[in-house]
Amino acid sequence: PTAANQRAVDRYLVDTLVGDDADLAQGLADAAAAGLPAIEVTPLGGKLLHLLARMAGAKRVLEVGTLGGYSTTWLARGIPDDGRVVTLELEPHHAEVARANLERAGVSEKVEIVVGRAVDSLPKLAERGDAPFDLVFIDADKESNATYLDWAVRLGRPGTVIVVDNVGRAGEVANPGTTDPMVQGTRRALELLGSDPRLDATALQTVGAKGWDGVALAIVT
Ligand code: SAM
Repeated sequence: PTAANQRAVDRYLVDTLVGDDADLAQGLADAAAAGLPAIEVTPLGGKLLHLLARMAGAKRVLEVGTLGGYSTTWLARGIPDDGRVVTLELEPHHAEVARANLERAGVSEKVEIVVGRAVDSLPKLAERGDAPFDLVFIDADKESNATYLDWAVRLGRPGTVIVVDNVGRAGEVANPGTTDPMVQGTRRALELLGSDPRLDATALQTVGAKGWDGVALAIVT
């Protein structure tokens, strides 16, 4: 399929299954106006996260990589009113944009944004007793994916659902000689998913509005 075909199918699926959401659309427009890169999940990907949260009956969700709060909003809408999303973001400017977007979407009460390097924030979550999380979405600096995966297990429980985004990388993920640190990090995470007895996993290639990529799904055993 051509890129145009893929975009057309994405549009059709979004129109048929997801629909438009004025708050989310405004959030993306504000994020773009504030200079944030458009590297959020697609609407279909956001709805997938939302459905996974509901299917898992998740109340406590951990997200690594907030950006403008787009996926955060989808996740927050998938948990009950007394549930909580803790989302980790390095850039204060991204967190500020996300805060406004979460407010507009009516989910800010359920979301805590922790600003700083995720590797520094994750041990603090453990210390302050936030675990166990029911669902973890990993979508930040791909170089650290294996580290985040290990933390997801430590902060999870048997049955915790883990989602790792961008595991296809336009096919580069299958190149063992890749020199791209993001792909190397993704390969390390996939190898951990495949070999660590604490995890059981699969991954799907995706095509669509954001090109050729993939998503990994795992459960803590
Ligand atoms: N999950 C978001 C969505 O779909 O709407 C997109 C997240 S974007 C792909 C990745 C985010 O991770 C960026 O906002 C970036 O600033 C943040 N990030 C990068 N390195 C990080 C780190 N070491 N710790 C925490 N966040 C980081």
